[in-house]
Amino acid sequence: MVSPASPASPTFPIAASATDPHSYAGQGTLRVRHLRLQVAVDFAQRTLAATATWWLTEPTAGGPATLVLDTRGLLLDAVSRGESADGPAASYRLETADPVLGQALRIEVPAGTAAISIAYRTVPEAAALQWLAPAQTAGAHPFLFTQSQAILARTWLPCQDSPGIRFTYEATVEVLGPERGQLLALMSAENPQHTAPEGRYQFQMVQPIPAYLMALAVGRLDFAPLSARTGIYAEPATLPKATYEFADLEQMVGAAEQLYGPYQWQRYDLLVLPPAFPFGGMENPRLTFVTPTILSGDRSLTSLVAHELAHSWSGNLVTNATWNDFWLNEGFTVYFERRIMAHLYGSTYADMLQVLGEADLRAELKQDIAGLRADIGGWPHQPGYALALAPGWPRPRRRPQRHCLRERLPATADLGAAGGTSAPRCLYQGVLRSVQLSEYGHHQVCRLPHAAAARP
Ligand SMILES: [Zn+2]
Repeated sequence: MVSPASPASPTFPIAASATDPHSYAGQGTLRVRHLRLQVAVDFAQRTLAATATWWLTEPTAGGPATLVLDTRGLLLDAVSRGESADGPAASYRLETADPVLGQALRIEVPAGTAAISIAYRTVPEAAALQWLAPAQTAGAHPFLFTQSQAILARTWLPCQDSPGIRFTYEATVEVLGPERGQLLALMSAENPQHTAPEGRYQFQMVQPIPAYLMALAVGRLDFAPLSARTGIYAEPATLPKATYEFADLEQMVGAAEQLYGPYQWQRYDLLVLPPAFPFGGMENPRLTFVTPTILSGDRSLTSLVAHELAHSWSGNLVTNATWNDFWLNEGFTVYFERRIMAHLYGSTYADMLQVLGEADLRAELKQDIAGLRADIGGWPHQPGYALALAPGWPRPRRRPQRHCLRERLPATADLGAAGGTSAPRCLYQGVLRSVQLSEYGHHQVCRLPHAAAARP
């Protein structure tokens, strides 16, 4: 277990949580730095029963202060001062519920308090928790996985759910009922590789992460190593195919390191989820979640893995401060993904991805142009890629293509016609100027002026 008194990282910056429109956490005066999570997984009830203990960035001094956490649909059993749910009760209140943002949990924290513990349960409808029946898997057991991005971590964990706030964590996960001893639990952390007969697992995450990278999966899973630091978790029926499909994973990590510096999360494993996984992939640190639909049998769809791997740098190390700038996470990652694929398979392959991406871009612009406002967070991938190729950013080898893409975006007829104004063009130019990423730092959080404030 990590000692909460001596976290792996002494300090890490807090970005603009006070202005994060998608989190209540900025309303309080206190920040969290470390989580101890104890979770019991009940497949029969489709609920988690948990205790979350949050250590604060520093014990409060002087008068009382307020810790504000994001919650949505959680059932609170106790809120206590100290490292145990059995500690002295803390004064708290839940604010009015918003259907999207949930409820602010405001906890009064007396002077000298180092930690707050919250005992709670999730509801079966918790948006981040995907409970799959055996028929939705490739086997004969139920399956649970989480999807916390963008603001769903608060549906299974009371937390400061803003991408600009990071914390380390340790966790204990226990599988209840007849599935105990049958299922393996995994998190975005240091992971076990074998099913524990007693159904109990412990985790550590020593690198601070934002709440949207909290992840949990529980299922009938086996592990196959690919290299000393990479491997595959999958249902037994899927594992051989997955092992073949991702045989180049170590080379992919190596290629990314040559381009962007050392991989900083120790292991890079993939979890191939059951067919019901609704996304292509999710870049949970140390353990990317991927859909089995990319198991084509000919390794032709592995660019998705390159994309999720690229997030180990853009997104997981350098993070948008708020979801208004989601395009930063995705745009740069699409760019990195193509650099990795070019490094591995040649520029022709990367050119093909670019052509496909440009087609996606045009389709997305046609779909979303009617709703185009100052917030471009709704279509982050391909437009984000176009925007990411700003002056000063490392450039692709084929400059003509870069210019081609950049020049086409603001010149698109659809853009020019939007709302009868030049607002989209101004927005585009403004965000280009706003790109200020200059270096990577493990705890660096990117902070940009909101696109709405940008002027051409
Ligand atoms: Zn992505």
